[in-house]
Amino acid sequence: MSETAVDVLVIGSGAAGLAAALTASIEGLSVLVVEKTEYIGGSTAISGGGIWIPNNNQSEKCGHPDSIAEAKTYLDRVVGNWSSDEMKLAFLEKGPAALDYLERNTDLEVTGRVYSPDYYPDAEGAKLGGRGVDPKVFDGRLLGAHFDELRPPLAEFTVLGGMMVNTYDVYHLLGITKKIASFKHGMKLLARYAADRLRYKRGTRLLLGNALAGRLFKSMLDRGIPYWLNAPAKRLIVADGRVTGAIVSRDGRDVQVDVRRGVVLATGGFPSDPKRRRDFMPIETGMWSMSPSANTGARPTSGIDHVHCGLNGFHHAGAEGAARSGDRRQRADAEHTCRLREDKRGHRQQGGACGGPLEKLAAGGGRHAGTPLSGGLCLRIAARSYGNHR
Ligand SMILES: Cc1cc2nc3c(=O)[nH]c(=O)nc-3n(C[C@H](O)[C@H](O)[C@H](O)COP(=O)(O)OP(=O)(O)OC[C@H]3O[C@@H](n4cnc5c(N)ncnc54)[C@H](O)[C@@H]3O)c2cc1C
Repeated sequence: MSETAVDVLVIGSGAAGLAAALTASIEGLSVLVVEKTEYIGGSTAISGGGIWIPNNNQSEKCGHPDSIAEAKTYLDRVVGNWSSDEMKLAFLEKGPAALDYLERNTDLEVTGRVYSPDYYPDAEGAKLGGRGVDPKVFDGRLLGAHFDELRPPLAEFTVLGGMMVNTYDVYHLLGITKKIASFKHGMKLLARYAADRLRYKRGTRLLLGNALAGRLFKSMLDRGIPYWLNAPAKRLIVADGRVTGAIVSRDGRDVQVDVRRGVVLATGGFPSDPKRRRDFMPIETGMWSMSPSANTGARPTSGIDHVHCGLNGFHHAGAEGAARSGDRRQRADAEHTCRLREDKRGHRQQGGACGGPLEKLAAGGGRHAGTPLSGGLCLRIAARSYGNHR
């Protein structure tokens, strides 16, 4: 078995993994990203890309001045005691800072939503806008030869076999024969797309989650962060109670990756595992998921399964595994994030919404190794690292 060593190994290349990798690199650490599929981007690349961070640097500009207190009231009303105050506050205090950090140091650029009501607009503390931000349109041509390595968006977000469109574009395309402004916008889109298709398999004007993943991927390329595709992490290496690396499959061979500082598990959720969806979701979800089929919350034979962690609203996969693990701290996390309870109507509910370990991490709690931010959408950060802490 061959060996390699880095400061930080990041497993998974969605927003959480890429953000963690970028942060580690910006802070001067050597990083390797391993991704089990042939694509960078995970669910993030096919998602809507909307990021919910109250009191962000755009809220006021969007006409919705916000405060931690108001957002905390909202979370208290909506999430209740399924997440601790400590976690809610970590999310609310560190979320805007994480977004600022990424915007300052990487190609991530976002636009605030002027009108985008919170999911529970009648709840105390809710806002009608300003809390959600969207990644700005990204030019996929900037990825050069790596464009094909970015996971393509869902067909539902494209027209004409590969041109990404948002609601603004759809409005103009539908009115292309009716208004001059729509004609101009529509023709510009079509001309760009036609030119793209002479060179690329799909349009290069990227929107939504594809723009988010594309922007983070571009930043990773610019920083020269190495990444391995088709390289599933199979298990963690544990010595003296600490994770010291992982075994990663690459080109059909096992490679031992030793880490000096830590392993970040950003492997997403298990939306493509119908059984666990059935076990953990309050209502029957059927066989299908829009997420990549690789997002099964993979269950290699040992190690990594214990601390598997992700977003997708299914990040409790990690907790589920951890609940069975022998580690006291992991079990405590698991009990917190994975608590199932009955709601008033007798439905099984998941505890700990937005209460993942990253909030703790952001608050500096526990023994989690230091990545100060999430990349996860909604900032329920998936990255969770166990490493050589000093
Ligand atoms: C259609 C759709 C729309 C959505 N829209 C929104 C939205 O607008 N706003 C929002 O907040 N959320 C949205 N979501 C949810 C959101 O996309 C996810 O919660 C988020 O992208 C998860 O990010 P992540 O980095 O944790 O995981 P992912 O982006 O899924 O990345 C995990 C990566 O880890 C890789 N991996 C897994 N196991 C291993 C292993 N053993 N070794 C190596 N690599 C591994 C996977 O292949 C994957 O590439 C949407 C989801 C979908 C499907």
